[in-house]
Amino acid sequence: MDAAGVKFLRLQFTDILGATKNVEVPQSQFEKALRGDVTFDGSSVEGFTRIEESDMLLRPDLGTFLIYPQFSREEGERGKVARLICDVHLPDGTPFEGDPRRVLRRQVERAQALGFEMFVGTEPEFFLFERTATGVGSTVTHDRAGYFDLAPIDKGERIRREITNKLVQMGFEIEAAHHEDAPGQHEIDFRYAPALETADRIATFKFVVKRVALEYGLLASFLPKPLPGVNGSGMHCHLSLFRDGVNTFADPDGEHGLSVTARQFIAGLLEHAGGMTAITNPLVNSYKRLVPGYEAPVNIAWSTSNRSALIRVPAKRGNSTRAELRMPDPSCNPYLALAAMLAAGLDGIAEKLEPPPAISRNIYKMTVREKRHHRVRELPTDLREAVDELEKDEVIAGALGEHVLDHFVEAKRAEWRDYSATIHAWELNRYLDLI
Ligand code: GLU
Ligand code: MG
Ligand code: MG
Repeated sequence: MDAAGVKFLRLQFTDILGATKNVEVPQSQFEKALRGDVTFDGSSVEGFTRIEESDMLLRPDLGTFLIYPQFSREEGERGKVARLICDVHLPDGTPFEGDPRRVLRRQVERAQALGFEMFVGTEPEFFLFERTATGVGSTVTHDRAGYFDLAPIDKGERIRREITNKLVQMGFEIEAAHHEDAPGQHEIDFRYAPALETADRIATFKFVVKRVALEYGLLASFLPKPLPGVNGSGMHCHLSLFRDGVNTFADPDGEHGLSVTARQFIAGLLEHAGGMTAITNPLVNSYKRLVPGYEAPVNIAWSTSNRSALIRVPAKRGNSTRAELRMPDPSCNPYLALAAMLAAGLDGIAEKLEPPPAISRNIYKMTVREKRHHRVRELPTDLREAVDELEKDEVIAGALGEHVLDHFVEAKRAEWRDYSATIHAWELNRYLDLI
């Protein structure tokens, strides 16, 4: 670190709601930090501890070391900044059950015990908005372009390249970057990796996108549905299970080229889809994205071809065989979301669940009777319903563990109450004159 000119080290972790937290230490404290001796006050972190047990330890995961690129000229003068992602431990050294990274590690270890490693590729989408003269964010998009449009219509091109360059400097392998369907909406995809690494990367990715946008005077937002009438932002997750370097989802002799393991994993995801939606789509706003007509899923079904289903199996087979889960959005806590997906899929395998037949038609256009015939259920329609389903789902609730579940449910119920007690512009527009 010294040789690289690093002057500050950020020790990062994530709270239960998915916000990245960090403690920064100067050079003189590097040794202590690497030993895992830096403490912080857990009682001030959302959903962490009670006052009486507030001193928590940060144990860095050395494999996550990276040096941040320079985001602005002034930064360079102050010296380089590096970061390490940490596991949170109690003062007696035991892992803290409320640490979201711990929740994902538990599922990763469960999979390992069965000989599996889950790989995840994500497609996070986001909007770039103008800031007002005083720097406050707005919902005015910085362009009017659409899917795959080219500059000069797409002013975001320059910013996307800048984000891509920064991410590459930080060791990301970027697979694609493009304008998305809605004005001001973009997507940057990075290469799939084991679940824990991908969760770490999602947190880093969001930070870099926001930081670069700020440098251009714009606001980058991962809010799932910032604008009515156009697509929202999802974070599709491509999931596969590997064993000894071989993708266990592929079977050239199986139906659709899928193995029994793949079918059972998909069946598990379908079975627990409703229970995990509060985790993958955790905001009141998330449910304004999950409506028909905007390429976001509404129905619990799977398909090998169409994008109206919750799970799509993209055409590639062999080691690229995977299930694309389409409801998650980028406001989720990536550690909890991937833990929930893995727990759901493993339950499908443990219980030898069989998925209903894949649906190849546009599900948005099916009648209620047709949906019933095809055993198609719907995802929760709002945050309250999603939290109710989470509490009822023993597999997902169990994967979170009591500490995380209790704090998450409490925070989300409070969020819902606050929302419900607010008088929205829509109500006044619709009713005020009329009633
Ligand atoms: N933006 C869409 C969503 O809300 C997804 C578009 C796509 O298929 O990439 O999920
Ligand atoms: Mg997309
Ligand atoms: Mg996709």
